[in-house]
Amino acid sequence: MVNSRDPKSTIAAVQHPAEGEGGKTGTWRTFKPVLDEKKCVLMKNPKARCHSCWMYCPEAIITRTRPPRINLEYCKGCGICVVECPQKAIKMEEE
Ligand code: SF4
Ligand code: SF4
Repeated sequence: MVNSRDPKSTIAAVQHPAEGEGGKTGTWRTFKPVLDEKKCVLMKNPKARCHSCWMYCPEAIITRTRPPRINLEYCKGCGICVVECPQKAIKMEEE
């Protein structure tokens, strides 16, 4: 359910990965994000809240789940999720 007072809820309601003029934009990447689930706070603590990676990904292709999932078909490899992850759980690896 969308809660207009919750910015995360609003972002999720308006952003969905979809193939546009650029096609499957994951092919643009040279580095891909890789999540180490053991380092993600959501996996270390069942009561923890975070999802910074989901909130800041400009392509809206990280799921708000435990653990988060990255849709590599559309990930452009910008690395913002790496910078925003407080646990350093995501790193970029060469394709
Ligand atoms: S590298 Fe960029 S586009 Fe890919 S999942 Fe991270 S924030 Fe999103
Ligand atoms: S930002 Fe990092 S710690 Fe937070 S949910 Fe994403 S992967 Fe887990």
